[in-house]
Amino acid sequence: MPRMKMKFVLKPEAPIAILRSRATSQFVKTLDYLPGSTVRGAFAEIFINKRGIDHDFKRIFVEERIRFSDFLPSNSTDLPLLMPLTAAACKRHGLEHQESLRDRLWEEMKSSSPAKQRCQCGEPLDRIAGYLSDMATKQKVEIGKQLRMHVGISRTTGSAMQGLLFSYEMLTERSASALMFVGTLEADEVDAAEVFAILQQVVPDREHLSIGKARTRGLGELSIVSRGEWTVPKDFEFNERWQNFNKNDSAECFFAITLDSHLALKDKLGRPVLDDLSAAHFGFSEKEQVKLLARFLAPAVVAGWNAAQGLPKPDTHAISRGSVLAFSAPKDSAEALREHLQQLETEGLGERRAEGFGKLTVCHPFHSKFGKE
Ligand SMILES: [Zn+2]
Repeated sequence: MPRMKMKFVLKPEAPIAILRSRATSQFVKTLDYLPGSTVRGAFAEIFINKRGIDHDFKRIFVEERIRFSDFLPSNSTDLPLLMPLTAAACKRHGLEHQESLRDRLWEEMKSSSPAKQRCQCGEPLDRIAGYLSDMATKQKVEIGKQLRMHVGISRTTGSAMQGLLFSYEMLTERSASALMFVGTLEADEVDAAEVFAILQQVVPDREHLSIGKARTRGLGELSIVSRGEWTVPKDFEFNERWQNFNKNDSAECFFAITLDSHLALKDKLGRPVLDDLSAAHFGFSEKEQVKLLARFLAPAVVAGWNAAQGLPKPDTHAISRGSVLAFSAPKDSAEALREHLQQLETEGLGERRAEGFGKLTVCHPFHSKFGKE
């Protein structure tokens, strides 16, 4: 079913700390993005405070008529790009040596003893993580981080407790570049206009969302800067991406699946699917003879919080965002495959899709732009 997407831009009004895991250590690191589940929780909280759990709340959050994506850091109001696990750049200078940016998927697919790539400065290439502002300029998104120290206060005496110093990391603006978080909300076209109108009424622009850790200490305030319908840019259309992967006269067609967010899949016995992810999990049948050529996978553990109940959710074991798989199939299968893959992109895959999980891109332009030659 076609879906309507709205792009939302959030601006921090205070430093943000999103726990990477449950707070079990004295030094807590922050995620550098806002998970869809967190943003969704903040919207739900405002809804409950203003209206309680009414019919509209149930429609949007219980029936999951609106899906929230992860919100990624950006230095502008544009959607940034999460660099896939295949991305590599100069080991010593990173993207300061812009020309060194490469994608390693094709080398792996061809499995022809990958030539040791080097940067022009002579340093080897190494995996690079983070976000690109856009692929043309190869500008990396700048994110500031700070450490805040705290002393634990005894509940009985009201004074500082010995040995209870703790710190956590926070995201802040860097002096030269603004920090925003950009993501999308989407709904089935059938009632998208209606559910987005309800949301706008209850959570209007300028409304403050409160997110993450230490909210009582003034952290985690964000305001909604803008929202507007998002349409696919021309160079991101499915056909264009597919063509760029299949510019050869091979008897086979090639395609890649890149995870834009964590993927939570379970097998028939309810166990999480992790490093044994294969073609069948994407719903390909034997008839299409899809063959796995390469994969770059990483695991992820997600600790959750249920804002409505004020309770922790069980950990979710997932395959990390940025993971990539590449496949080939006989050219005869191409038509059927393309249809199936487009549907996968629209519908997403696996569990917790309303919270941003299971979003993927087929034949991501990053691989074709930085991979070949
Ligand atoms: Zn270099």
